Order: sequence, then C-alpha cells, then structure tokens
Amino acid sequence: MMITYLFVLLFCSILSFAVLSPKKSIHSLSDVLKRRKQLIHNNNVVLTKNIDNNDSNNDDDDDIGEVKGGNFKSGFVSIIGNPNVGKSTLLNALLDQPLCIVSPKPQTTRHRILGVKTENNYQLIFSDTPGMVEPAYKLQETMMDNVKAATGDADVILLVTDIYSEPLIDNKIMLKLLNTTKPIIIAINKIDINNNNINNITSIWQNRIPNNKIILTLSAMKLLNINELINNILLYIPYGPKYFSSNTITNRNERFFTTEIIRETILDLYQDEIPYNCEVIIDSFKDKIIDKLSIIEATIIVSKDSQKGIIIGKNGIKLKELGILARKKLENFLCRNVYLSLHVKCDNDWHIKNDALYKYGYIEEDDKK
Ligand code: GDP
Ligand code: MG
Repeated sequence: MMITYLFVLLFCSILSFAVLSPKKSIHSLSDVLKRRKQLIHNNNVVLTKNIDNNDSNNDDDDDIGEVKGGNFKSGFVSIIGNPNVGKSTLLNALLDQPLCIVSPKPQTTRHRILGVKTENNYQLIFSDTPGMVEPAYKLQETMMDNVKAATGDADVILLVTDIYSEPLIDNKIMLKLLNTTKPIIIAINKIDINNNNINNITSIWQNRIPNNKIILTLSAMKLLNINELINNILLYIPYGPKYFSSNTITNRNERFFTTEIIRETILDLYQDEIPYNCEVIIDSFKDKIIDKLSIIEATIIVSKDSQKGIIIGKNGIKLKELGILARKKLENFLCRNVYLSLHVKCDNDWHIKNDALYKYGYIEEDDKK
C-alpha cells in the first residue's frame, strides 16, 4: 500500500514538473546553426553592430547556441500588415537602428529583412516583410511569397495596422491568421497623429481577428509604447538558444543595405511608376581601410529605355542630385566616407521576367521556370 502511494506521488510530481516547468530549449548547436543558415539567404554575411571598426570577421559565432542558466528566451517574430502602415519604421524602433528603408510611398520594402535584438535575457529575431499587395505583376507575386513564408516560421505574428483601420488587403493571409494557432499580437500604429478614436479601432480589430492575444496602440515614429510591445511579445517566446551572436543586427550585408539606401533615395526623388521600375545592383564595393573610405560603384536598372533619361535628367543633373543625397545617407549608415559612382542601364521589363527576378535575388533557383 505504502509502495503504491509512493509511486502515485512520484508520478504526480513528475507530471506536475513537466506541466509547470518552462519550455526549455531542445535545440542542439547543429539545429541552431541549421535554422540560422535557413535564415541567411543568398550567402549574405550578417551585418554586426561594430560596423565602423573594420572588422572583417563580423560573423562571430563565439556566443551562439545554448545559454547557460536556462532563462534565456529566443524566437522569431514576423511583422506583417498592409503597405504603409509603418512596419519598417516599427522594426527600426524595436532595434533602435535605422535598418529598413521607410518611405511615404507604399511597397518600399521588397525583400524580407531580419532584424536581431539581443539583450541579457532574450534574443528576438524580427522579420520585416514586404507589405501585402494584390499581385499585379511578377515582382509583387514574389514579394507575396515572402510574406507567406514569414508567417510560416514565426513564434509570434505581429500584425501592424494603423489608425485608419483599413482591412487586410490579402484575403489568404487573413484566413491564415484566423486559423493559426500561433499567437497574434495586433499593433495599432500612428497614434501620434490622432488617438481620439482608439476604442473604436480596437474593437474593429477585435471583431476582425478575435483570436488575437492582445491589441496594443503605439507610435513607431515617436517611440510610444515600444517597450510594452516587447514585453508582450516576450510572453509568447519560448526559452531557447542564441541563434545569432550578440552583436548581430541583421542577416543582410552592407552591399544589400547600400542598394536599399540608393533605392530609398530614388523613391524620394522620382515620381509615379519610376521608383517601382528601378532595381539597384552593386558593381563593386571596395574598402580603403586606412582612409576609412568605401568606393562604391552601382548601377540603376530601369525597365524601359525611356526611363533612363528620366533618371539621368537634363545634363545629368538629376542623377547627380541622387548621387549626392545617397552618398550622404550611406556615409551616415556605414560610418565612413563614401565615394559613390552611379550608372543607369535598361533591362527591358525586368520586373515581370522570372530570369531577371532570379538574377536580382527576388526568387530562388526552383522558382525560376
Ligand atoms: P511599411 O510600408 O509598412 O513598411 O511602412 P513604413 O515604415 O515605410 O512607413 C510608411 C509611412 O508611415 C512613412 O512615411 C513613415 O514615416 C510613416 N509612419 C510610420 N510609423 C509612423 C508613426 O508612428 N506615426 C506617424 N505619424 N507616421 C508613421
Ligand atoms: Mg516596409
């Protein structure tokens, strides 16, 4: 009798330990490296915080893997939402770094960008996805595939919307959100513009996505309620390993951000369809370490011959202006002097051709056909 009692007691205590103890990491270092590898697309080198100390060995793996003590949380947060609601601004605010390009024009973000935030007790890996758009041409289709992939491997889905309460453009994503078991946090952004109608907007989203965990109001631009958002995300992040070394801030390299910064400047300077038809490629990127100087040659690809003249402008004046503005931004971002030389080339209808989309890194080998 006594023995049976002891057995029952032992069984119950094992059960309660299993239920009550926090979900500890089960990842081995090779799992960590594997998952990390999946995240680093196109053999990009990760960009680390010490970008100004000319340390070429910036993929420091020393402190990745299990974190001793077991109180470390780590996980993936997908930032999704309609174009222009402030997703990239929010990622920049969360990371405290101007990483993603931000523009009043929609569809600024084309590629999926990871932003890594590491503190003593957690590492959050955010992915900024291109805004949802109805795919009208090939480039937008590949952007949407990125959005779909981003919801798939997340621990938390952060749905960003703003005070204008537009419904989600993409119905498939909406359906996915309604049926997912993943925690969804809804962030209503831009409350700095107007916060009179907050209760109303909150209840609209509560009705649209009743399976959300919490609806928060914030301003990515004015940095309002950002910590509250982080604390709420952490509630749903499991205990786990460090996927990236502590000083990693993104999976993308300096070349990538250089093209993004030039693209952002094109969005600022040119009107209508022009920015959407431009792609930027780096022809060469050389560092002169002694002079703290980067010599960058880049080409702007347009999709129609007539667009070349618009980019260059009369007597090259517009291209010169673009070069000066982009160089200033690049110097700021790279923390060194920059010599920037820009060229313009036409690749007919590149944004609707699979081959070209592959060449410019928008689709993988398998999707090329
Ligand atoms: P995305 O397309 O969702 O990535 O949106 P962006 O981050 O590029 O932002 C779109 C526009 O909204 C930009 O002009 C931002 O400056 C602006 N914006 C973003 N967040 C805020 C905010 O909190 N308040 C205000 N007033 N504007 C914001
Ligand atoms: Mg964006």
